[in-house]
Amino acid sequence: MSSSQLLDKAAIKDKYAKERAKRLRPEGNAQYQRLEGKFESYAGDPHTPLRERDPVRDHVTFAFIGAGLSGLVVGARLKEAGIKDVRVIEKGGDVGGTWYWNRYPGVRCDTAAMIYLPLLEETGYIPSEKYVRGPEILEHCERIAKHYGLRDKALFHTEVHSLEWQEDQQVWRIKTSRGDDFTAKYLGMGTGPLHVAKLPGIPGIESFAGKSFHTSRWDYEYTGGDAHGAPMDKLADKRVAVIGTGATGVQCIPQLAKTAKELFVFQRTPSSVDERRNHAIDDQWIKANAKPGWQKRWMDNFVENMGGGIPSEDLVDDGWTEISRSIREKMLNGTPPWLARLVVRTRKVLGRGPSQRSSERVRTAFEDADFEKMEQIRARVDAQVTDPETAENLKAWYSQLCKRPCFSDEYLPAFNSPNMTLVDTDGKGVERIDETGLFANGVHYPVDCIVYASGFEYGANFQLKSGFDLTGRNGQRLSEHWANGLRTLHGLHMHGFPNAFMIQMNQGANMASNIPHNIVDHAATVAQVVSHAEANGFASVEPTAEAEAAWVELILTNQGSLIGSTECTPGFWNNEGQGWSQEFRQAQGHPGGAEGFFKHIQAWRDAGDFEGLVFTATQKNETAPAHAELVS
Ligand code: NDP
Repeated sequence: MSSSQLLDKAAIKDKYAKERAKRLRPEGNAQYQRLEGKFESYAGDPHTPLRERDPVRDHVTFAFIGAGLSGLVVGARLKEAGIKDVRVIEKGGDVGGTWYWNRYPGVRCDTAAMIYLPLLEETGYIPSEKYVRGPEILEHCERIAKHYGLRDKALFHTEVHSLEWQEDQQVWRIKTSRGDDFTAKYLGMGTGPLHVAKLPGIPGIESFAGKSFHTSRWDYEYTGGDAHGAPMDKLADKRVAVIGTGATGVQCIPQLAKTAKELFVFQRTPSSVDERRNHAIDDQWIKANAKPGWQKRWMDNFVENMGGGIPSEDLVDDGWTEISRSIREKMLNGTPPWLARLVVRTRKVLGRGPSQRSSERVRTAFEDADFEKMEQIRARVDAQVTDPETAENLKAWYSQLCKRPCFSDEYLPAFNSPNMTLVDTDGKGVERIDETGLFANGVHYPVDCIVYASGFEYGANFQLKSGFDLTGRNGQRLSEHWANGLRTLHGLHMHGFPNAFMIQMNQGANMASNIPHNIVDHAATVAQVVSHAEANGFASVEPTAEAEAAWVELILTNQGSLIGSTECTPGFWNNEGQGWSQEFRQAQGHPGGAEGFFKHIQAWRDAGDFEGLVFTATQKNETAPAHAELVS
C-alpha cells in the first residue's frame, strides 16, 4: 500500500477547505494599499543618485521600455541581428529590473541558474552555484548590457508618459518624465509581471511613525549590512516587524533574525518550505555539461520535465521538476517509463490524444503526489522547529501549487532563535497599525521598524502596473483594446498597434517556474520579425484582427492548470480566491502548457511565413516589393 493510500484524504481536504475559508476576503485584490499619496515615496530609488541630463530629441530603430531581463535579452538579440541603435528606457538608475530593485538580505533565485540566467553561452559566464544570490544575477544583467553595448543609448531614471503611433511617418513618438520627445520605428515593452510593489491595506497603516519600507526598496542605511550578506548591525537595538511570509519573506526573515534585537513575523498564510539542495558549480560540472548549445538543451529539458510527457532525463533536477516527477511516478504506477513512452507514441500514431481516463488519472496522481509531498513538508516543520505551537502554526494546509512553493534551509530553524516571535493571525492578517506598532489577535506589538514583504500588484490592469498606455492606429488606446482582457497574437503582438511587441508570459507559455524562458523565446521571435521587416524594407508589421481573435479563442479553451485553481487558498496566483474573471481567464497561457506553446511558436518561426502578421511597405521606399502588404 502506498503512503498516499494511508492518508486520510477526506480529512485533509476538509482541513484545506476550512483554512481557505478563513482567508477569503470579499474585497479580493482591492484589499491592498497602492503606493499612492504618503506611500509614493516608497517607490523611490535607494541605489543610484539621479543624474541631470538634457532631454533627448532623436530617432532610434528600436526603443524598449524596461531594462530588466526582457529589455536586455531582446536588445541582445536585436544587436546580434544587426540593429545598431537600440534604446532601453528604464525607471531605475541602471539595468537589472527585478534584480536592480530587489536587493533585500538573502535575495536569491529559486530557479536553477543554468536555466534562469539568460545568454550564459553568449557571454561566457558560468554561475557560481545552482541557486545564485541576487547580486550575482544583477552582475549578470550588467554583463549582458556591457557585452551588447546596451547602455550606450539607454535612458535611466526615466519613466515613459506617452506613446503614440504616428501613422504618417510609421513610427512611435515617445515622451518621458525627463522631457524626452523622440521617435522609434519599433517599440518593445517588458516591464515585468511583478514590479509595482503593494502594501497590505491595514487600517491605520499611514499612522505608523517609526521606520518602514517595502522589501523591494531595502533601506540598508537604516538596517546596516548589504545584499551580499554583511550583517545588519544597526538593528541590534531595534524591534522589527515583518508582514508577509511569501517567497520574499522566507528569504529575508532568517537574515533579520541574525541581528535584530527582536523580530516579530506577522503571518496570515504559512508558505510551504521545502529543502534548498543548493551546491557550488565547479570545473567538473562544466566539463561534464557545458558542451556548445547546452543552455538551450537544459531549458528545453526543464520544460519537458514540467510538461505531461515522459522525459528520458532530468538535467535540472530541482524542486520544480520533482513535483512533476512524483506525479508521473504515481501515474506510471510501476509501468517502466520506456513502455509508457511507447504507449503514448502508439496513441499518437493512431491519432488518439490523451483519453478522458488519462486526464482523470493525471488529476488523481497529482492529488496523491501532492498529499504526500505536503505531508513531508509539514513533517519537515516538526523536525526543524522546536516549539510545538510555533511548528503547528508554520504548517501549510493547501496543495503545493496553490501558492508559490518556497525552498529554504534557513527559514524554519530561524524560528528557534530566542529573539524571534511568530505572530500567527489565523488567516486574518494584522488588525491595525498605530503610531507605535501593530495589533494582531487583540495584542499590541510596539516596534521600531516595519518591513513590508507584502508582494506586488498582479491582478491590477496593465496600465496601472506599467504606468503608461499606448495610443495606436486611429487613436485607439491599448487600455481600450484590453478593456475586457488581454488580446494578442502569441502574447506578443497586438492588432492596431503596429511595430509594437509586448514581452510577457500571458497568452504564451505562462511559465512561472522559469520566467526568463518566456523572455528568451519572445526575443527570438522579435529578432526574426524585425530582421525580416528590415531586410525587405517594410515600414510596419502587426497581426490581423482575425489572427488575434483566433489566438484569444484558443487561450480561452484552456481549462485551467494545476497552478492557481479556484479551490486554492487565496493568493495572487488564483485572483485572491475570487474565481476566474474573464480578464483572468484571458491572461492564461496556451492550452498545451509551456511545452505546447514553445513547440507551436518554434514551428511558426521555422515556417518563416509569419502567419497571422501583415507587413506593410513604406510609401516612400520604392525598393519595397509591390506585393508586400500581405505576407501571411
Ligand atoms: P507574495 O505576494 O507572495 O507574499 C505577500 C505576503 O504578504 C503573503 O504572505 C501575504 O499573506 C502577506 N500579506 C498581505 N497582506 C497581509 C496582511 N494584511 N496581513 C498579513 N500578511 C499579509 O509576495 P512576495 O514578494 O513574497 O513574492 C512575490 C513573487 O515574487 C513570488 O511569488 C515569486 O514569483 C517572486 N519571488 C521569487 C523569489 C525567488 O525566486 N527566490 C524570491 C522572492 C520573490 P497571504 O499569503 O495570506 O496573502
